[in-house]
Amino acid sequence: MPEVAIVGGGPAGLSAGLFTAKNDLDTVVFDTDETWMHKAHLFNYLGIDSMDGTEFVEDAREQAEGFDADMRVGEEVTAVERVGDGDAGGFTVTTDDAEYDATYVVFATGTDTDLLEDLGVEFTDEDLVDVDLSMETSVDGAYATGAMIRNQEWQAVISAGDGGAAALDILSNEKGEHFHDFDVPEDAE
Ligand SMILES: Cc1cc2nc3c(=O)[nH]c(=O)nc-3n(C[C@H](O)[C@H](O)[C@H](O)COP(=O)(O)OP(=O)(O)OC[C@H]3O[C@@H](n4cnc5c(N)ncnc54)[C@H](O)[C@@H]3O)c2cc1C
Repeated sequence: MPEVAIVGGGPAGLSAGLFTAKNDLDTVVFDTDETWMHKAHLFNYLGIDSMDGTEFVEDAREQAEGFDADMRVGEEVTAVERVGDGDAGGFTVTTDDAEYDATYVVFATGTDTDLLEDLGVEFTDEDLVDVDLSMETSVDGAYATGAMIRNQEWQAVISAGDGGAAALDILSNEKGEHFHDFDVPEDAE
């Protein structure tokens, strides 16, 4: 059973998946491959001078897969349901192909909030998904990232940051203490 199911494989979802897979949580990323990055060319992503958006996504997928994230490109999530209450619960994630259980779900579907509405998360007065600083929604264990939590201020680097924040919160929960994914030069191969 994946501990972390990520719905959406743009910068937000891939960033979340990179962090959770790198730190040994079973991670699956479902993606219908309609990320806005396919329309973009990056000149404003810190550390990257210039890169085609599709190339960025392909590189990011490979990076997460390198840490064993299970990348399901083309598999659409059609429903996410809560199982049980509170910390003891989890989620059933239904796709057009199969059904999965997951301990955590990270929503990274751009502006599309249909799955979150069905799950019953709270929204703000501006009709954005209501999250805390760790991107957790009003439903325990369900996280929302990227365009759905911001009014128009949409940038790839911000979505990637949201995904990282959600993943660190999940990792902190799992490890039982504040978690930092810090590497030092001796870690480099
Ligand atoms: C023309 C254009 C140019 C841009 N240029 C730049 C730029 O230069 N710099 C910059 O920083 N930003 C740019 N952006 C914005 C940038 O592309 C977005 O901020 C970024 O892609 C948002 O990332 P995200 O992960 O939140 O969502 P998205 O990238 O939209 O990814 C969401 C993913 O979820 C998938 N999905 C949706 N529903 C489901 C489902 N039910 N099941 C499975 N998968 C699902 C979608 O197919 C998609 O792949 C541009 C956008 C556009 C439109």
